[in-house]
Amino acid sequence: MTNLNIKAFQIGGKWIGDDVRREVITSIDPADGSVAGIVSRALPSDVDEAVEIASQAFKNKPWRKLRPDQRATTLYTIGSRLLAERESLAKLQMNDSGKPWKECLNMVDMAAGNFRYYAAVCETWQNEVTSPRGDYFSMAMAEPFGVVAAITPWNSPLISESQKIAPALAVGNAVLLKPSEETPQLAIELGRICSESGLPEGLLTVLPGYGEDVGAALVNHPGVRMISFTGGTDTGRIISSSAGRRLIPVGMELGGKSPHIVFEDADLDKAVAGVLSGIFGSAGQSCVAGSRLFVQKSIYQKFIKELVERTAKIRVGLPSDLTTQMGPVISEAHRQKIASYVDIGRAEGGQILTGGRIPDIPALKNGWFYMPTIIDGLNNSARICQEEIFGPVLVALPFENEEDVILQGNDSVFGLAAGIWTSDYSRAWRIARELEAGSVWINTYKQSHIATPFGGFKDSGIAREKGLHGLRLYSQVKSIFWGMHSNPIQLG
Ligand code: NDP
Repeated sequence: MTNLNIKAFQIGGKWIGDDVRREVITSIDPADGSVAGIVSRALPSDVDEAVEIASQAFKNKPWRKLRPDQRATTLYTIGSRLLAERESLAKLQMNDSGKPWKECLNMVDMAAGNFRYYAAVCETWQNEVTSPRGDYFSMAMAEPFGVVAAITPWNSPLISESQKIAPALAVGNAVLLKPSEETPQLAIELGRICSESGLPEGLLTVLPGYGEDVGAALVNHPGVRMISFTGGTDTGRIISSSAGRRLIPVGMELGGKSPHIVFEDADLDKAVAGVLSGIFGSAGQSCVAGSRLFVQKSIYQKFIKELVERTAKIRVGLPSDLTTQMGPVISEAHRQKIASYVDIGRAEGGQILTGGRIPDIPALKNGWFYMPTIIDGLNNSARICQEEIFGPVLVALPFENEEDVILQGNDSVFGLAAGIWTSDYSRAWRIARELEAGSVWINTYKQSHIATPFGGFKDSGIAREKGLHGLRLYSQVKSIFWGMHSNPIQLG
C-alpha cells in the first residue's frame, strides 16, 4: 500500500493523510470484494480541532453575514461542479456501495439538485413580519445554530449528505460531516468540491472515522450545537439520548418497515411493478423499502403468483452491467444478517416463495449478492414482519378489508412510509390519512424530490428534512421587537 493510494481529508486547510503512519479505512467494492479505496481515518483527537476550526469559521468568516444571494451563488456553484464531475462521482459511488450504474448517475443528479434547490430557497426565503400588539415592529428571523454535526449511513451517501449540508450552509451554519465507514470516499470528494466552489475554509469539514469513536465524540462535543443524523433506529436512540442530556436539537431520519397495500380494485400490473421496485430497488437497502406487502384476500393467490414469476426474472448482476436490475448488498456481514433473517422467517413457519439464497452465478461469486426473496405464511407479529432487514426480502400477508389493513399496517414500531394501490380515490384518501407514516404513496411508490418534506412517525424519526422544513431544521428562530413609540415603556 503506497501513500498515493490513500485519500486524505482536510481540517482547516491541513491535509490529513500525508502521514503514512495514520490508520486508514479501507472501502471494499461489494460487487467483487476488491479494494474500492483507502481513506485516512479520522480519530476522536481530530474532533476537538475540527470543532474549534468550524466554530471560528462560523464566528469570524463572513459566510453567515453574507447576503442570501451571495451564499446562494456558492451553493449553485457546488451543484454545477457536482454535475461537471458526474461520471467520476458516480463511479466512486458504484465502487463504494455496489449500486447499479444508472442509479449512481441519478444520485449525483439528485445531489446537485439538492444544492440548487437550497440555493433558490436561500435567495427567496422570507423571514416573518408578525402582527404587532402595540407601537413596535415585530419579526421572527431564522438564525443558524453555529456548528452542526451531520452523520450519515452508507446506502445513499451523496444524497443524504447533500440533503443535510446544503440547507445547513444555506442558513449560515458550519458543518462537520461524518460519513459511514462503508462509503467514506464520496464525502471527501464532496468536501473538496465545496472548497473548490468557494466555500470559505472551515465551514465544511469531513471526518471519515468510525461511529463509535468519531461519531460519539462529535455528538458529545460541547461546541456542536445541533445534530442531524440518518441511520438505524438504535443508533438514533443513542445519539438522541446524548443530545437530550445536552439539550441540543436533533433531526433523526431512522429505519422503517413500510406497509405496501394492494386492493382488489387496483391496476394489478402497475401494482406488481410498484411492489417490485419498492422492495428490490437498491437491493432492499432503502429506508422506505416497502418490505411488508398486504394484498386483499380475494386476489392474494393470483397477485402473489404474478409477483413471484416477475421476481424470478429480476436480473441480479454486476453494478457496471447496464442490464443489471439488482446489485449486491453492502458487505459480507450485511448479507449474513439478511440470510439470518430469512432463516428466522423459515423457523417461524414462513414459506420461501422465491429467492432465500445466494445466486448461483459464477461471475458474482466474489461479491455480496443475495437473491430477491418473497416469504409468506406468517402473520404480522412475526419477527421478520416487525424488524427492519434492510435487504431484498419481502414478506407477503393477506388482508380482509380497510379496517384490517389499517390495523395491520400500523402495527409496527416504525412509521416511515406506506404505499396504497386502489382505483377508489376516496378509499385511497381515507387510508392515507389513517396510516401512521411520514410519506404515503398512492398508485405509485418511492417517488421523492427535494421540495417535499421527508421524515418518519414513531421510531422512524424526529423532524423533517427536505423542502422548506429542511431549512427550518437547521435554523433557530429569533424574535425581534423594535419599539416605534417615543415613550415605549410607561410604568404604572
Ligand atoms: P447506522 O445507524 O449503523 O450508522 C449510521 C451512521 O451513524 C454511520 O455513519 C455510523 O458510523 C454512525 N454511528 C454509529 N454509531 C454511532 C454513535 N454511537 N454515535 C455517532 N454516530 C454513530 O446505520 P447504517 O449505516 O447501517 O444505515 C442503515 C440504516 O439507516 C437503516 O436502519 C436505514 O433504515 C437507515 N436509513 C434511514 C433513512 C431515512 O431517511 N429515514 C435513509 C437511509 C437509511 P460507522 O458506520 O462509520 O461506524
